[in-house]
Amino acid sequence: MKRNLKVLIIGAGTGGLALAQGLKAAGVAVDVYERDHSPTDRLQGYRLSISPAGCRALKACLPEAVYAKFIASAAKPSETVTFLDHRLNRLLRIDIPREEASDVANERPIGRLALRGVLLDGLGAIVHFGKKFVGFEDAPGGGVVARFDDGSTAAGDLIVGADGASSPVRSQLLPQAKRLDTGIVGISGKLALTSERRAAIPAPILRGPTLILGAKGRFMFANAVEYDKTERDGSPEPRRTPSPCDGLRGFEPERGLSGAERLAPNPEEYVMWAVSARREAFGTRLEALGGEALKVAALALVADWNPALRQMIEDSAAASVITFPVKTSTPVPPWPTRNVTLLGDALHNMTPFRGVGANTALRDAAALRAALIAVDRGERELLPALAAYERDMIDYGFRAVGVSLEMMRRVHADDAVSRAVAKLVFRAVDHIKPLQPIFIGRE
Ligand SMILES: Cc1cc2nc3c(=O)[nH]c(=O)nc-3n(C[C@H](O)[C@H](O)[C@H](O)COP(=O)(O)OP(=O)(O)OC[C@H]3O[C@@H](n4cnc5c(N)ncnc54)[C@H](O)[C@@H]3O)c2cc1C
Repeated sequence: MKRNLKVLIIGAGTGGLALAQGLKAAGVAVDVYERDHSPTDRLQGYRLSISPAGCRALKACLPEAVYAKFIASAAKPSETVTFLDHRLNRLLRIDIPREEASDVANERPIGRLALRGVLLDGLGAIVHFGKKFVGFEDAPGGGVVARFDDGSTAAGDLIVGADGASSPVRSQLLPQAKRLDTGIVGISGKLALTSERRAAIPAPILRGPTLILGAKGRFMFANAVEYDKTERDGSPEPRRTPSPCDGLRGFEPERGLSGAERLAPNPEEYVMWAVSARREAFGTRLEALGGEALKVAALALVADWNPALRQMIEDSAAASVITFPVKTSTPVPPWPTRNVTLLGDALHNMTPFRGVGANTALRDAAALRAALIAVDRGERELLPALAAYERDMIDYGFRAVGVSLEMMRRVHADDAVSRAVAKLVFRAVDHIKPLQPIFIGRE
């Protein structure tokens, strides 16, 4: 017998919105509560790489037309993953075969803002902005109640904490779960692409994710976000896709959007870069600095690096430059399942060095969607379905946390021996093709 489940999702981020899309499309009652006052509040514009696994999860969750918008809004698929040293000598290059005929088999880079725009498409009134979750309690007649900081409440059968790395839902559900500062801190920025700048950028960065290892545990990541060109009017302009921001319409689309990320005819093309090292290597408290001072700190870190890499930092707009501490989480064993669960960074927060945090959140969303649809249809009981979801998610989620941490350590190795070993590993994998997909998590 149909159960008519009512699901409350806390957090309109990557995983929460994908789950909301999947439940709404299947006719399951769902509401999303987000602390931001609009979709563009506070959103830093770094790009996410959605892997084939992430694409498959999105395809499972999104209505066909919304998935088509995701494909149209994503940048050119990556062709390679490259590891270099800071003089641009190749350590390892992994070719990513491009599957023209498939809409799930390619790596799809997409800006966070653009992805949120796609994921909001068609959700309308079920997403409530300006609702900061502060706690949950059992509802008197069964079910669960979410409380918000404006004094309002919402009742449902289940709360899904999709509220990111500092999750207040997790803090109440699992006070024992810990997030740890790794001691690594990063500075990231965006270089707007012009044809002149493009010509000066090291070629691997234009082909896909590029990981650059310097001396003394200093590291840089860089990747271009570019769009397929058409020969419209004979000019090689980026094609007009459905705007990545289409889903933001009706949600104050102009506020907080930067440059070409506004509802412009063409999406912004840029190189996203990030430098990182142990906090002490910067010699100053980065959190206190503005964009210009952060650029100076980033340049000081890479003082003797190849000039083309330094130029990318110098030419980046100060307003795009931010700093971020790198945190991770410690594995949590399964807990007694109740009608409050977690998804994505809210449980398995990981370092960004394998680029799998969003992809894992999407995997969670697809798995939880399938479980909750079965419950809604009366095919499964809620708690056993959630327990099975949690068991799997804890296992693959914390495995992803582990490999991200391992990659962080490898690329920031700061003593000569560990650095030599790390480089040896990259060069070995460069020669052993069957190892390459495993090395970048595409097994
Ligand atoms: C520099 C960088 C690069 C990255 N690159 C990649 C990449 O290439 N590929 C990849 O897979 N991952 C990447 N990641 C990781 C990825 O961004 C995260 O893992 C992913 O966004 C997590 O999704 P989520 O849905 O769990 O949380 P989020 O997307 O963070 O969403 C959480 C939402 O909850 C809301 N919220 C928080 N508290 C409350 C509250 N009290 N009440 C209501 N709402 C609340 C937040 O405002 C937010 O909207 C990167 C991360 C960084 C820092």
